[in-house]
Amino acid sequence: MSIIKNNLLEIKAALPPHVTLVAVSKTWPVEDLIEAYNVGQRIFGENKVQEMTQKWEHMPKDIQWHMIGHLQSNKVKYIAPYVSLVHSVDSLKLLTEINRQAKRYRKVIDCLLQVHIAEEDTKFGLNEEELQSLLASEEFKAMENIRVTGLMGMATFTDDMEQVKREFLHLKSIFDKLSEQPETSTFKPETLSMGMSGDYQLAIECGSTLVRIGSSIFGTR
Ligand SMILES: *Cc1c(COP(=O)(O)O)cnc(C)c1O
Repeated sequence: MSIIKNNLLEIKAALPPHVTLVAVSKTWPVEDLIEAYNVGQRIFGENKVQEMTQKWEHMPKDIQWHMIGHLQSNKVKYIAPYVSLVHSVDSLKLLTEINRQAKRYRKVIDCLLQVHIAEEDTKFGLNEEELQSLLASEEFKAMENIRVTGLMGMATFTDDMEQVKREFLHLKSIFDKLSEQPETSTFKPETLSMGMSGDYQLAIECGSTLVRIGSSIFGTR
């Protein structure tokens, strides 16, 4: 059996049943994705609009495509017809554009709000205050073609697992707080997207329900 199939089956077998796996296939060719598809993988994550769209065109249509990378508002229109979850929403402006494009296609697009949890300041995301004010805004509440279904976060890129754990637990505590707020038509928190190849086991211990794994499946980029 190929390395990709082997890696994927091994990782899947070890995941708790409540945790969903996104196979992060950025930079890898369609042939590699097909190998993962052939052992049952149906959720793929990409971080660039053009690359994701090209792969979507070439791959079977029962795949769920997740946008995990920073998304510019002017590119939403290219993925709106087919994207199933956007992990990286970090502004009301972007959410407004996703809502507008989703409406054109008469669909509802699920979104996660990306929260800045890393101590390093290179990563995108909302802070807690911005998150609360977005969720409290009338513009957000009036949207009809998006649904915020949870949060996404990335820990600092470091070997210090104590720090990574602190950051994951911080995101989990924000998620738990949000989960106590009443559900609305635009807000139904059920997904906590955290954990990548190097830290997903820790992320799961800290409450992750969706892990984004690339290099442990496809190899180092
Ligand atoms: C690339 C990427 C991943 C996967 O990283 P690996 O270390 O290859 O598992 C997860 N999340 C985001 C946002 C990424 O850009």
